[in-house]
Amino acid sequence: QGNMLFLRSFVILLLSCMTIKTNLCFPSLLSSLKTLPIDGHFDFEQVRHAAKDFGNRYSFLPLAVLHPMSVSDIASTVKHVWLMGPGSELTVAARGHGHSLQGQAQAPAGVVINMESLQGLGMQFHTGNFPYVDVSGGELWINILRQSLKHGLAPKSWTDYLHLTVGGTLSNAGISGQAFRHGPQISNVHQLEVVTGKGEVVNCSEKQNSDLFYSVLGGLGQFGIITRARISLEPAPEMVKWIRVLYTDFATFAKDQEKLISGESMFDYIEGFVIINRTGLLNNWRSSFNPQDPVQASKFKSDGRTLYCLELAKYFNRDETAGVNREIKSSLSQLNHVPSTLFLAEVPYIEFLDRVHISEIKLRSKGLWEVPHPWLNLLIPRSKIQIFAQHVFANILTDTSNGPVLIYPVNKSKWDNRTSVVIPEEDVFYLVAFLSSAVPSSTGTDGLDHILIQNKRILEFCEIARLGVKQYLPHYSTQREWKAHFGSRWEVFARRKSSYDPLAMLAPGQRIFQKAI
Ligand code: FAD
Repeated sequence: QGNMLFLRSFVILLLSCMTIKTNLCFPSLLSSLKTLPIDGHFDFEQVRHAAKDFGNRYSFLPLAVLHPMSVSDIASTVKHVWLMGPGSELTVAARGHGHSLQGQAQAPAGVVINMESLQGLGMQFHTGNFPYVDVSGGELWINILRQSLKHGLAPKSWTDYLHLTVGGTLSNAGISGQAFRHGPQISNVHQLEVVTGKGEVVNCSEKQNSDLFYSVLGGLGQFGIITRARISLEPAPEMVKWIRVLYTDFATFAKDQEKLISGESMFDYIEGFVIINRTGLLNNWRSSFNPQDPVQASKFKSDGRTLYCLELAKYFNRDETAGVNREIKSSLSQLNHVPSTLFLAEVPYIEFLDRVHISEIKLRSKGLWEVPHPWLNLLIPRSKIQIFAQHVFANILTDTSNGPVLIYPVNKSKWDNRTSVVIPEEDVFYLVAFLSSAVPSSTGTDGLDHILIQNKRILEFCEIARLGVKQYLPHYSTQREWKAHFGSRWEVFARRKSSYDPLAMLAPGQRIFQKAI
């Protein structure tokens, strides 16, 4: 651990020196940025926060942080860097809420654009038969939810945590328990406004500049900066029946999950998680769930077994309660969970969607939120999920996990293969998310090194067993690995890059392309 700390300090020192060197070598860079006529401002001093993210493992100091007040601030800055040409090392990263895991929103010795400053541009709601809202790319999903609810509306597809920006999640996919029905968030966007790597402001949609539209969706920030998005809405329910049931056998659990996502399921949200010797606050950070009558279920003894928890939600309005109760009873009777393990809670819709934030507040108060997060997210084809579960839950995560392990299937038909995101080939695939938190000073099983080794073993197993797994929120350090990730889609990805960001200045923290110098 001591060595790791030393290494980390060394890297930070090295990067600070690089920043100073860059400032010395390119004094014109600084002064030229300073003279750009913009509505917002550049900060050259307070830049440390832009070298931090949720992952808490990578830290690259930028040269400057732009706090834009308008889209033209972003366009002018990007154009300025573009016009410097390949001779300058300067890169540009849009930073949403900085909840990346490995420095993806950072720009070593470059310019970070604080997208949240754009929130002031406001939201425009369009009601009617096909409601939607126009929002800034730096808007937080929680704010969109709060404002939409005032119109009795809400977006259809979510992430489990809402304190993330529109630009940040649309650059990945945005997956949660509604994705089986509505697809990921990138399947629920009608139109985007994008600043390309040449500093041009372009509107795009399925009909207009469609290649750019699909490039940017799931595009890891490589093709342009999303400054505005048109998000599809639906009528918002008042309440949610939030249900958890347990399984002792993975095959039965997975069979029920797949049954629920196929056809006309009555549930609006379907997820699940694995329970491995679950104790402690870090391990329970998603547990804002307070079942109404846990007495019967708590009699169930797990005897140290690995358990699988199916998590379901049914949205409803208060005047539909009786009918919904009947429907739920009938649907649950067709499942094969352990009968005594039914946990049920009833909460307002916003409380259900914002559930992880409640845990965030608890963890923050105990200093357990800003710890390293060596997360690993995998998309696994249905035909391989059994072998994956058998091996990983029996041989790798044997007696503990350091955070929630989510596991749930989604339907590929709800994903658009024109977007940049890479998913497995099969009609149904699972998201398996190892959401580990490391205890900073620990050298034990809850320490960073141990968790990273576990992650590596999981990835190696997927590779050796040829499971056809794709990483979600992918992270690689070499272009060879990125090419393997994209497979046959690499050529399209690279072609799009040369069209929209020919100097490879955007989102350098993804480490896919190197800026041409
Ligand atoms: P940042 O971390 O700021 O940016 C991410 C990437 O997008 C960077 O490369 C950045 O340069 C680029 N970017 C940011 N803004 C823009 C923009 N406007 N235009 C173009 N590029 C941009 N993901 C899910 O899908 N489902 C989940 O349930 C889920 N739960 C999460 C829970 C927590 C607690 C956390 C921390 C993350 C979770 N994520 C989930 C992952 C999350 O969606 C991604 O990490 C996302 O990128 C974070 O958004 P952000 O606004 O913080 O983006």
